[in-house]
Amino acid sequence: MQWDMNIDICALILLLVVLLIHVSKQFVSIRRSRVFLAMVLLETAAVVCSTTIKYLLLYAGYEAGLWSAVLVNVFYVVQYLVPILYMDYMVVWSGHSLKASRLSSCLFALPIVFYLAIMIWNIVTQRLYIWDSQFGYKHAAPAGSLLVITLYCIMYGVIYAVLNVRKLAFGKLSTICLSAAGVIIVMLVQHYCPGVTHINFIVSAGMLVLYLVAQNQSEMIDNNTQVLNRNMLDELLRDNISNRKRFDLIVLALDDFKFVNKTFGVTSGDMMLMQVAHFLTTITKKAKVYRYGADQFALEILHGDMNLDQIIALIQERFRHPWITEDVSVMLSTTISCVSYPDDGANMANIIDVIDYSVLSAKTSGKGAVVYARDLDLHALRKEKAIEKAVEDAILRDTIEVYYQPIYNTKKQCYTSAEALVRLRDDMLGNIPPDVFIPIAERNGTIVKLGALIFEKVCQFIQKVNLRETSIEYIEVNVSVVQCMQQDFVEKLIGIMERYDVAPDQINLEVTETAASNSLAILQENIERLHAKGISFSLDDYGSGYSTLGYIHQLPFKIIKLDRLMVWDAFANERAGITLKFTVGMLKELKVHIVAEGVETQEQQTHLADIGCDYLQGWYYAKAMPANEFEALIKEAS
Ligand code: C2E
Ligand code: CA
Ligand code: CA
Repeated sequence: MQWDMNIDICALILLLVVLLIHVSKQFVSIRRSRVFLAMVLLETAAVVCSTTIKYLLLYAGYEAGLWSAVLVNVFYVVQYLVPILYMDYMVVWSGHSLKASRLSSCLFALPIVFYLAIMIWNIVTQRLYIWDSQFGYKHAAPAGSLLVITLYCIMYGVIYAVLNVRKLAFGKLSTICLSAAGVIIVMLVQHYCPGVTHINFIVSAGMLVLYLVAQNQSEMIDNNTQVLNRNMLDELLRDNISNRKRFDLIVLALDDFKFVNKTFGVTSGDMMLMQVAHFLTTITKKAKVYRYGADQFALEILHGDMNLDQIIALIQERFRHPWITEDVSVMLSTTISCVSYPDDGANMANIIDVIDYSVLSAKTSGKGAVVYARDLDLHALRKEKAIEKAVEDAILRDTIEVYYQPIYNTKKQCYTSAEALVRLRDDMLGNIPPDVFIPIAERNGTIVKLGALIFEKVCQFIQKVNLRETSIEYIEVNVSVVQCMQQDFVEKLIGIMERYDVAPDQINLEVTETAASNSLAILQENIERLHAKGISFSLDDYGSGYSTLGYIHQLPFKIIKLDRLMVWDAFANERAGITLKFTVGMLKELKVHIVAEGVETQEQQTHLADIGCDYLQGWYYAKAMPANEFEALIKEAS
């Protein structure tokens, strides 16, 4: 068997095609793209070197000499850099920095050290190859070590990507694994059967696959506006941050863009967005432009490259003029937020949070507002993020606790119900009060999981203590409006109750006034469905600010809980005392039960019972206590 030049020429053509599409589309200069480009260039150089030597020796009648030795050495140097770059590419692609693990970094450095040692040794001894009449030159026995390095690099790259999978879809990952396996198999076959010379072609095909699966530039660009997309922003910022490159980010959030879409149609809206994107690309060549959200753009500028105030002035000037498409002319306005790394955030997650927080602050400041993150109270944001994490950790580690505060029945003169109150203790932050972390969990949506967990713990408790055997008739559980808005809210609660054999009359759900005022329609539907199943409801914090008589009329509340501030006011101020008395009278006419919260003294207790409150809750009786203490209390009483 002899060397077949056609296969190497095909490999070369394939590589040139990949090279051409890679650089002809808008080249996104991120590390991943640069490594890919280097990989294709080196592979092309290697194929050119080896093909030239073989052609000259086998077909053109040249004798092996210094020129061919130089070419073979260049071939070895470039060819075996490719697997090292592949390894690097996979690390970058996986989106997980090597710096996070010392072991990964050492394992990464290992083949590089060996590669350098072997190349230096070969330049001195020329022992990696031997001249051959059929193939021009052949690997000598020591070249086996290069095969080992190559296998190692490919395996490292693939395993690293699999283990650190962040944004890689399963399909992409399996295609990459298959193509890597193909290259490995052909390499082994070629090593043991030198007659098979398809390796260059297979490697080129592997690069094409890698391009299509991982490097596809069209996945980096927003189809509509032709600027870089959000994924790219994340990747580039991560790139900058891992290289400690300072940068500034200007985020534009168009005001009321929904109005443009609604009034002029989505097509005109899209054209406006294209114009804005195009304008931003023309401001300066030094900034990269991204579509950050549906009606948001971001400009990324390496620190010191341009003056931020100058750019902002240019943007503001442009927004003083209309944006014109074929048949529409519209004045747009935009808020502008400026965030700098590392001044405003030390890592990727911080920076993204600060951007979102700044955009929100700009929006609340009004149309056209300009906000610098450095002027915002980032301390509050960081605290909020730390609390978010504490809640998520507690859910994961199941360290959320439910305490119970007994509620005194003034007629029966004993405890007949209790309120379940969540408790959270974090190693770093200590005890976090529920009125601090519940609103945060509501904002980021964790309340749905948290609320279900609390409800489950309450049901578990009811089953465990066999509530029917005690004087406690039902437990009051606080539910947040975000929970009530869930489509499957009713099914979820009923499912949990069935699992623990809890009857509907053993549960009372507390809804707050603010919750009720936000989304009456959905709330009403869910409350009515649960009410139809026999679960009763309380309106919590009555009198804490909102006028809720409308809701009392429309929603089937069984209990109204008077807010503790209203109760306390009644004892501090004569007029407030009269108001409370008449409020209780009015509520009694409406045939609802009344709970007075915040009862702290004997005087309060006597007076509240006298004016007709059915239930009293407060520290005068007991503070909220852990489940086991509450269990002991109610078992002792019964
Ligand atoms: P809330 O629903 O009005 O709960 C009553 C709050 O008043 C509780 O505070 C309770 O410990 C406190 N309290 C009871 N008696 C007295 C008293 O005599 N004096 C004083 N000064 N305070 C008294 P806590 O446990 O800190 O809960 C605060 C708020 O957090 C709750 O107000 C409720 O809005 C929310 N929350 C608590 N647990 C949950 C829960 O499981 N789910 C939801 N969604 N929210 C909860
Ligand atoms: Ca409550
Ligand atoms: Ca309350």
